Amino acid sequence: MNEKSHVIFELLHLELDDLYEDLKLVLDSLEERHRSQVLTDRVYEENAATLRAEIEGVKSLLHDIEAQAQQDSTAEVDFAALSASIDRTLTDHDLPRALEHLVKKKLKKIQNYFQDREGTDFSHWHFQYNTPHTVFGFEVIENLFEARSPFQKVAVVATLDYGRVLLIDDLIMVTEKDAFVYHEMMVHVPLSVCPDARDVLVIGGGDGGTVTELCRYPQLQRIVEVEIDEVVVNAARQYFPELSRGYADPRVELLIEDGVRYMAQAPEASFDVILIDSTDPIGPGEGLFSQRFYQDCRRVLKPGGVLINQSESPYYPKQARELQRAAAKLRSVFKHHSVYQMFIPTYESGHWLLGFASDSRHPMEFDPERWQNLAIKTHYYTPDVHRASFALPPFVSDLLENSNDH
Ligand code: SAM
Repeated sequence: MNEKSHVIFELLHLELDDLYEDLKLVLDSLEERHRSQVLTDRVYEENAATLRAEIEGVKSLLHDIEAQAQQDSTAEVDFAALSASIDRTLTDHDLPRALEHLVKKKLKKIQNYFQDREGTDFSHWHFQYNTPHTVFGFEVIENLFEARSPFQKVAVVATLDYGRVLLIDDLIMVTEKDAFVYHEMMVHVPLSVCPDARDVLVIGGGDGGTVTELCRYPQLQRIVEVEIDEVVVNAARQYFPELSRGYADPRVELLIEDGVRYMAQAPEASFDVILIDSTDPIGPGEGLFSQRFYQDCRRVLKPGGVLINQSESPYYPKQARELQRAAAKLRSVFKHHSVYQMFIPTYESGHWLLGFASDSRHPMEFDPERWQNLAIKTHYYTPDVHRASFALPPFVSDLLENSNDH
């Protein structure tokens, strides 16, 4: 047997050994619960019989696999042939279907280790290009939703490692696994700095994650979200019910309209905090990165108000350029502007920035105890993370110092 085949058989053996031990543990606990009379005789008998059959089945599979490992002299292990021979063993021994499923899962896991690039079918993978030469990708297990709205292409796909993913024009907007980082940092940083805020405006944010996080603050009276695309909101409601549950809160007012237009007409000094939870500065999101828009935001903020904006990644030249452009504009409009960073694996480079702009507030001036007294359970934000996120590596502060609007 060649080395690769040997490793594959060894792995399969190990996986089945694990399965055997797990099943024995379940049987032990079943017997224990039967002894202590937690389980009736009937429930115990039914379950114990299935488990014993599965344990015997794994034992005979292990035996058959050992025999195959002795015989196999082919250069490469053929997974289809191996799977067929496992099928035969399962049928010959008349083993339960649940076991078939478990064993197939183990075989698939091993197959994945060994699939090399040439052998992998990438046709159902999603790739997001950071540059024409660097890519982030994941396997799409299921296409759940796709629609072309008047503004953009909206899709929801299921993945193994990141759960459901919302894509707009093929760019990752949120994933079930790491969305908390972005939403917690977008919301808790300004609300720690403005603990008396009552009125908050969200521009964009159609996945609902930002308003849901805002709803955790009992003192907020009015949470207005202005999202241009109803298709995004409906997809979020259907496929990300947890993330978008804030839309059901009576304090939330959802307006389907262009944020640029809304802001141009919004009354002066009407919000304590403005959160720009936008797409990138292309397509409908472009206007949300303009100087005119930032001037409107300043007018609409109450004295002591804070603006937070999605500020891209400092890593790749195109996004770094967008960061510099937005920073230059914000600096020309607000007295104070800084950026803070967070780590989100599915956004370009994983190193992501938000901007903080205000005429009178400084991001380090907040009362950690007051925030902690709210007892909001978070998974990323803490007052320490808040402070640390404004400590920028020199390559990022250099980018900001050299910002210009060209
Ligand atoms: N967290 C995400 C990110 O950084 O990639 C942003 C997510 S959120 C889904 C962005 C939303 O901004 C989209 O739903 C999009 O429709 C909305 N949007 C884009 N341009 C807009 C505009 N001019 N007015 C209001 N909403 C806008």
